[in-house]
Amino acid sequence: MTTVTPAHPPGRAEIGHLYRTRLSKGRATLGELLGGELETESQGAWVSTASGRRLLNCSGYGVLLMGARHPTVVRHVTDQLHRNPVATRVLLEPQAALAADALVAKVPHGLERVHFACSGAEAVETAIKIARTLGKDRLISTYGGYHGKTMGALSLTGKELFQQPFRPLLPHTTHVAYGDTDALEQRLSAASGRACVVIEPVQGEAGVVLPPPGYLRAVQRLCQAHDALFVLDEIQTGLGRLGAWWGADLEAVTPDVLLTGKGLGGGIMPVSAVVATPQAFTAFDKDPYLHTSTFSGMPLAMAAVRGALTAIEEEDLVARARDLGAQLLDDIGRIAKEHFGDLLREVRGRGLLLGIEFAEPGPAGDLLVELIQQGVVANHSLNSHLVLRLTPPAVLTPSDVTFLLTAFDRACRAQAARYVPTLEGGASHAQR
Ligand code: PLP
Repeated sequence: MTTVTPAHPPGRAEIGHLYRTRLSKGRATLGELLGGELETESQGAWVSTASGRRLLNCSGYGVLLMGARHPTVVRHVTDQLHRNPVATRVLLEPQAALAADALVAKVPHGLERVHFACSGAEAVETAIKIARTLGKDRLISTYGGYHGKTMGALSLTGKELFQQPFRPLLPHTTHVAYGDTDALEQRLSAASGRACVVIEPVQGEAGVVLPPPGYLRAVQRLCQAHDALFVLDEIQTGLGRLGAWWGADLEAVTPDVLLTGKGLGGGIMPVSAVVATPQAFTAFDKDPYLHTSTFSGMPLAMAAVRGALTAIEEEDLVARARDLGAQLLDDIGRIAKEHFGDLLREVRGRGLLLGIEFAEPGPAGDLLVELIQQGVVANHSLNSHLVLRLTPPAVLTPSDVTFLLTAFDRACRAQAARYVPTLEGGASHAQR
């Protein structure tokens, strides 16, 4: 196979070919199934394609809370790019210290130490290592929970499909049903003094699963009672996504370790962080070389963090996520019900993390494809084929909202015609 040196700009066929031959055949096929568009530019809530289309971006798996290329983040990152993008890692560097301080100001009181990383999974790995330094080698997470795909994080991710090809994973790792505090208590009793519990405030990849009220408080109480480390994975839910700065705030809990990522880099840089109590961080405090990686805390990423936190604060994005989320939950729920009837199991969510669950696997995927036709990019859910997920940015304008609802209505109408013959006059899905 010869290398393609495209006369520019390369078109769909060339990029598709390169995906197939250089990246992943499966990814190439999936891209084609989803319409084969090439995304080339993004600004705010919109992404543009090589064919000249503009699509409303309710995707990005939760990264784009402040939309694409937010001016405050761009300013911070551009300025740093022209000063000192990558540190010596020998001298002290101001951006990392300032970013850590800005983050500590936003998390629940008592979380004071920060370790920066690049991906969510790396933050999870760091939390597992912190647990080990404290003698907590019994890991407990939840079925359907998603914590990433590196070997340690994958041990916690409660999905057999992703785990099976890579066994053996970390030993002494168990899963309990999300929301089930009795099951958690049983496991904790069996591992008293040695457990580390890792949970999400809302399970994002499981298909936006909300816990029963009081769950986080109960988990905190059980962890305290059994001397377990409580790690709250807010990589998807944090920074305003749920209409509160953190899921922790919704129940006024303070975990021993809080994980954040995704939107932390302002939609521009890959950054994650582990924020811990000084007690949990003791070993890392003592020895800065115990856990390192080359790009951890690099100044360019740290500038993005500072820009992101500033933008969220200045533009009141947390409250905007809360209000927009409440409106969208109502409207999306009404429209989906109108078209899909009993085939719709539930529309649920908190803030701008919304899930549309169907009673069978087909419609979520078909609606995802149809929405792209209608001008909206949504997400599937890695741990549930039944749920279509919307993670819109908090910067949607009223006309963006109208666009989204109109497109959603059209997409539902088109797909419901295939699934719900009596309502829409189409063929029964059983006959397709
Ligand atoms: N934890 C949660 C709650 C997530 O939603 C994700 C990603 O979706 C991760 C961890 C892993 O993050 P990353 O994909 O950046 O490794």
